Amino acid sequence: MIASPLLRKLKSIAGSENVFFDPADLTSYSYDSSSFSAFPQAVILPRDTETISDLMRFAFNEGISVFVRGAGTGTTGASVPVQARPDSKGIVLSMTRMNAIRRIELQDMMAEVEPGVITGDLQKATSKVGLFYPPDPASLKVCTIGGNVATGAGGARAVKYGVTRDYVIAIEAVLPSGDIIQTGARTAKGVVGYDLTRLLVGSEGTLALFSRIWLKLVPLPRDVGTVLCFFSSDEDAISAISTIFSAGVLPRCAEFMDALSLRCLVLANPGLSIPVGAGSAVLIEVDGTEEAVTTEIGTVMSEVKGVALQVWHAVDSLEADAMWRLRRGLSPAIKQLGFPDKISEDICVPRHNLAQVLKRIRAIADETAVTILSFGHAGDGNLHVNLLYDKNRKTDIERVEIAVGAVMRASIELGGTISGEHGVGLSKKQFVGWELSQEAISIMKGIKKVFDPKGILNPGKVF
Ligand SMILES: Cc1cc2nc3c(=O)[nH]c(=O)nc-3n(C[C@H](O)[C@H](O)[C@H](O)COP(=O)(O)OP(=O)(O)OC[C@H]3O[C@@H](n4cnc5c(N)ncnc54)[C@H](O)[C@@H]3O)c2cc1C
Repeated sequence: MIASPLLRKLKSIAGSENVFFDPADLTSYSYDSSSFSAFPQAVILPRDTETISDLMRFAFNEGISVFVRGAGTGTTGASVPVQARPDSKGIVLSMTRMNAIRRIELQDMMAEVEPGVITGDLQKATSKVGLFYPPDPASLKVCTIGGNVATGAGGARAVKYGVTRDYVIAIEAVLPSGDIIQTGARTAKGVVGYDLTRLLVGSEGTLALFSRIWLKLVPLPRDVGTVLCFFSSDEDAISAISTIFSAGVLPRCAEFMDALSLRCLVLANPGLSIPVGAGSAVLIEVDGTEEAVTTEIGTVMSEVKGVALQVWHAVDSLEADAMWRLRRGLSPAIKQLGFPDKISEDICVPRHNLAQVLKRIRAIADETAVTILSFGHAGDGNLHVNLLYDKNRKTDIERVEIAVGAVMRASIELGGTISGEHGVGLSKKQFVGWELSQEAISIMKGIKKVFDPKGILNPGKVF
């Protein structure tokens, strides 16, 4: 139980109604979507920047660790309050009550939001005024903009529109010392000084807490076209994606599913009938004016003709939604294969090496006897590689650890990265040195020290 003087102080700063310390309440803040968990001593749900600043000033003076958190959908343990030492104190700051969309500015095509805004809510609000916030992590109905900025989240539409990083133009951030800074400029352009905004994007809650975020918006596309193409092999699917790009079509999404992924979908959706011999599929979506969408869908259909076993063309948004439900339901559908546990990696390779990395992954699955299925944002070379196992079986753990390491190596050797969009957190710490040089890591550690000289903000993450 938290020592009462500390609790009294937290309540006096943030207000009793915003401070939680019952074990039952703390449980909800003890985990994310990874397998890591740890209890904080208290959870505070601040409502404004000044309270965050006062809390940080207090934590800084007392040497208390602070773990900032959005919706806890992160897959790497990045928001989990794991303490460096068992006797040290740690509190969680959950940003979910700071969830106002402050402004959507039509003329400037910009939104000003608090960090706890749910990504999908911002998308609904912007579309009502004809604007579009494209980043779409599959968790968008739950995850927060603050979490998206801190992880540099991607999503299916990154192929055409880029990732969260490409939309953040300015940030109000509270430093571990409690000082408040503004980064970037609330203009379409701005190059004064170092680009601290880009530095904060993807910083995984280790450098500063975002209390206000300014985001770029684009015009809402007038029309969308969706097709689901089935192929007999991974290679055919990947080469079809290349052909579509070479034909001058930049789809907004190109989502790949391998043979095992298709099997999960069939098991999870009784009545779903996929073409006989289907060994992979790609969900392609294009957007633009009605005319452009008709032309581009025509090009996609003619480019995959002869290679695809079958192409399903969504005639309306209901059919498109049904296709997306299959794709978005894939992660939970993996349970159908009967494995109690999975490790989900998100490697990213240059697109020209996608077929090669899939081949390496199949070989790793054979060599280690680990069941592995891959799907994801193939349009930008980003694959979610799922390794299935039972954590109660020692041999499973040993084999899956070898397989994870081999997948990481394969990605790096093929010019890729160990994480395209989920970040490092706790789960990928041991692989960071495989990808980054010691010189680069020591610069990053130096940056951490400048922002957080006492190491109180999200300690033990990333490095
Ligand atoms: C089903 C599912 C599908 C997913 N699909 C995708 C996907 O398609 N693409 C993708 O990129 N990710 C995906 N993810 C991962 C996850 O949703 C993203 O990483 C998301 O950005 C996390 O947001 P969150 O609000 O849940 O943050 P949390 O998990 O709470 O925190 C994540 C990190 O952000 C930091 N943080 C949170 N808020 C702040 C703040 N205000 N200031 C500073 N740091 C902060 C935390 O300290 C932590 O390091 C998926 C996860 C699930 C469970």
